[in-house]
Amino acid sequence: MSQLLEVNEATMRFGGLVALNAVSFSIGRGEVLAVIGPNGAGKSTLFNVVTGVYRPTSGHVRFDGIEITGHPSHQVVARGVGRTFQTSRLFSDLSVLDNVIIGMHTRTKTGVLGALFLPGASRREMAACVEKAELLLKASSGELFEQRHRPAGTLAQADRRRLEIARALASEPKLLLLDEPSVGMDEVETDALIADIRRLRTERPELSVILIEHDMRVVEAFPDHVMCVDYGSKIAEGDFATVKSDPRVQEAYLGK
Ligand code: ADP
Ligand code: MG
Repeated sequence: MSQLLEVNEATMRFGGLVALNAVSFSIGRGEVLAVIGPNGAGKSTLFNVVTGVYRPTSGHVRFDGIEITGHPSHQVVARGVGRTFQTSRLFSDLSVLDNVIIGMHTRTKTGVLGALFLPGASRREMAACVEKAELLLKASSGELFEQRHRPAGTLAQADRRRLEIARALASEPKLLLLDEPSVGMDEVETDALIADIRRLRTERPELSVILIEHDMRVVEAFPDHVMCVDYGSKIAEGDFATVKSDPRVQEAYLGK
């Protein structure tokens, strides 16, 4: 069977800058891929190319058997790609619960406003949405459920990151892209994040996850498939031990 996501020779230029240089990789169903590399290596750009935020200058993205290169983001989400951003994109003034409900509807035609006001939705549909959102909040390691009526902007940093993940999951993705989910988390919170991702994999064995990470403890927890990028190019790929001991990887980190 073909891979869930196949990126083929993706190049992204911003003027004279080559942010991604002919990067190819793929990920199968149920796999976790960790993407590492120094700041500015092109990791977030890779997510932006996969999710249609940018159309790559050249190269191709195939998802679930369909070419999605440059398709608009909402279509990519609708096909089953959920993501979080390096810097929070939550609606700070809306409640925790409403943020998740919005995530649920990013893949429907009603869109964000529809999600908020649900004009055509029956009371029963609305209740089902709330129930589903509450389940996602309960499943998170933090106390998101207890804080569900608070404005998202008032959450602590770690809870905001957790809420982003819950919101991305609300769209029922086949592929979840996490951009530095452990940023701003202390050691205990990072361990809880690792446990959350592990539990997610047990509960949804078909879900594939691509994880951009700086914290090697997180990468080490998902050691099967790791890819390192530097200056836009893939410089190593394999299991964590192989990638970590690669001289080019060591140089990329030491050289900065
Ligand atoms: P990483 O996530 O690995 O830290 P990024 O993908 O954010 O790196 O950035 C890779 C390079 O591309 C950086 O030099 C960054 O400044 C540049 N870049 C990213 N997005 C844009 C953009 N929209 N316009 C111009 N340059 C960009
Ligand atoms: Mg980044």
